[in-house]
This record gives sequence, structure tokens and C-alpha cells, in this order.
Amino acid sequence: MIKEGLSAQIIPDSQGFFGAHGGKIEHPDLAKAMDEVSAGFQAMIADPTFIDELKLLQKTYVGRPSPIYHARTLSQNGAQIYLKREDLNHTGAHKINHCLGEVLLAKKLGKRKVIAETGAGQHGVALATAAALLGLECEIHMGVVDIEKEHPNVSRMKILGAKIVPVSMGAGTLKEAVDSAFGAYMEQFEDSLFAIGSVVGPSPYPEMVAYFQSIVGHEAREQFDQAYGGQPDEVIACVGGGSNAIGLFNAFMDDAHVALVGVEPAGEGLDTDRHAATLTLGKPGIIQGFHCYFLQDADGNPAPVHSIASGLDYPGVGPQHCHLKDIGRARYETATDKETLAAFLTLARSEGIIPALESAHAIAYAIKRAAELDSDKRLLINLSGRGDKDLDYAIERLGSNL
Ligand SMILES: *Cc1c(COP(=O)(O)O)cnc(C)c1O
Repeated sequence: MIKEGLSAQIIPDSQGFFGAHGGKIEHPDLAKAMDEVSAGFQAMIADPTFIDELKLLQKTYVGRPSPIYHARTLSQNGAQIYLKREDLNHTGAHKINHCLGEVLLAKKLGKRKVIAETGAGQHGVALATAAALLGLECEIHMGVVDIEKEHPNVSRMKILGAKIVPVSMGAGTLKEAVDSAFGAYMEQFEDSLFAIGSVVGPSPYPEMVAYFQSIVGHEAREQFDQAYGGQPDEVIACVGGGSNAIGLFNAFMDDAHVALVGVEPAGEGLDTDRHAATLTLGKPGIIQGFHCYFLQDADGNPAPVHSIASGLDYPGVGPQHCHLKDIGRARYETATDKETLAAFLTLARSEGIIPALESAHAIAYAIKRAAELDSDKRLLINLSGRGDKDLDYAIERLGSNL
């Protein structure tokens, strides 16, 4: 029987804080809307009918449980490397886990529509999928630059019946899309739900998204114990906003002997301004309605960020990770674009698995880490998504090296 729910370490206090980070929205109308979402979420997870519906969809629609795979070829230089195969989920990544939860919640609250932003389009596709399945409208805000770049995902969303709102303000990328989506939500919060794509944003989103992602860790802990005995020495995941990492970490939070390791994008190097290593180099402050570490420019505004993996290039990070860093329960490492691209190719050629560039950050760190450890040590990595979306980019970058 798989255990459910979140460790007390990543449940917020009554004000929505995890230690010094997180918080609630103050705007009175929106605060009311957030209270409705929060109460609906708490009621949903206490209602066996909804939990049964969610579990049935996880099993028959997403294809859960996703397996754990012992990557033996990759494990020849030291510690043993195991992969939690979230890339095998329907839609190819972990994002479907929280999108199903959010759309079920919208339905429970009697909403007609879900609204969200998307950068590379991964969250948009997963949300449009869940909305199509459950019969809700879906409105996705996306920067015009991203629409141009991420054509296959735009086509997927259209075919799934989502309405795409192009955003041409500012740089025409993720940050502007968030502002646009939030603006649209403010005008129609009575009949819609804002569906955030990670463990970021104001309360109750970090707790809610972490809850829906916690299936990853609960499954992994039980599968690992059954197949290999006991727990891994370290669990490792890439961190953008932090949802796939928190989903894996949660089940091991109270196993003090298990190290929790998040891997951030060091981009072109931590000594350049072309990275998105938020927990490593960010400063505390408030971004888009919540307190966290974030990368700031000289005026304290969100800095432009970069990663080879578009799912990781966000200047902020979830408040639960900020708290886990502060209390020393998790540690945060980095992988550069170059190390990531090498790991992408290594996993493809040694195990026949093409990872998402996001996930390849965790693989890059794990390969390095394994070489420092004895062969009886065990590392469990969250393979958060598959790499189909990254093939053109990889071919362009690797070209003559292939
Ligand atoms: C979006 C995405 C991520 C980053 O999001 P988190 O909230 O940090 O998990 C990681 N991996 C894949 C495959 C993604 O699509």
C-alpha cells in the first residue's frame, strides 16, 4: 500500500510560509479566490471519491506506476544509478501528474475553464491534455517568441482544443506570459482556475502541486525497497521551479540517512550571467507573489536567465526548496549546458534512453557523483521527461560530433 500525503517539512504554516519563504496574495479579491482554491484542494484530498478518481486516471490514463530502472552500463564507474522513469508517462513527463490534479480540482469547484502560462509549451500541453480529458476549456498564454520557437507544442495544444493567447509584451517569453495569464485570471476568477505549472507562486500552489507530484516519491520508495532492499543513499532531481524534485524528495524527507540533491542549470557557467542557478546564487525577495531566492539584477528585479533546457530557465524557485536549503535538509548542485549535453548523449548511447534536457542536468550530476562513490552506494534519479522535444536542438548543437 503506497503511503500518501506530504511530509510536515513541506506543509506551509497558516500564512502560507515554509520557514522564511512562500506567502499568500494580499489583493483582497484574489485572496478570496485563493482561499476558495485552498479550501477546495483540502476538501478534495480528504474525499475518497476524488482520490479514487485521481488514482484510476493515474493508472489507466497516465500509465502509472512508472518503473524504476537500474542503469547498469551507466553504473560502471562507481555508485549504482537507478532511474525513476517519469519519461514513460502519457505526454512524456511528470507535468501530467499535477495537471490532472489541478483540472480535477477545477471541476470539483464548478469552474468552466483552466488558465495558465507556458514557456516551452510542456506545461501547456499537459494542461490541455488534462482539460480535454475532463471536458474543461483551456486557455494558454504564451510569448510570441516562444510560439515561434516551440511550434510542435503549439500544434499539440491547438489539436487538443486549447485556446492560445499570444503575448507580445516585453521580451515575449515566459515572464510576460505569466503576467498576461494572471491578468486574464483576475478578470475571470469566478469561473476559472489558474493552473500553475510548478511548486511556485502564492499559497496554496506550492503545497498543492507538491501533493499531486508526491506520487513519484511514494511509488519510488516502495518500488526501490521491494526490488533492491532499503532506501537509496541519495535521491537526485533537476530543479526549475522544483516540482519533479519535491515530488521525489517528499517520500524520503523523513529518512535522515537519504541525501536529497537538487540540480540547477549552471548554463554557460556560474561566473557568467548566462545561467539559472537560483538556489546557488539567488538572493531572497518577492517575485510574482511569493518569497523565495531568485536571481536579481542590480535593482533587485528578476534577472534575465538562461539554460539549455527551457523548462529550467525561471529566475525564481519554489519556497519549499528554499526552506530545505535553509534548514540543510537538501543540498543544491549545478550542471552546465555542456555537461548536460554530454550526459544527454551518454544516456542515449549507454542505455538507449533519450532524456529531456531538463532531466539530463540530473543525469550529468549523477554521473559525476557516482564516480566519487563506492559501487555499493545507490543513487536514485528522477528522469522527469523524455527528449523528443529536444532532438532538433541537440542535432543543431552536436551536429558534426555525431
Ligand atoms: C518543466 C520540466 C521540468 C522543470 O520543472 P520542475 O517544476 O522543476 O520539475 C523538468 N523536467 C521536465 C521534463 C520538464 O518538462
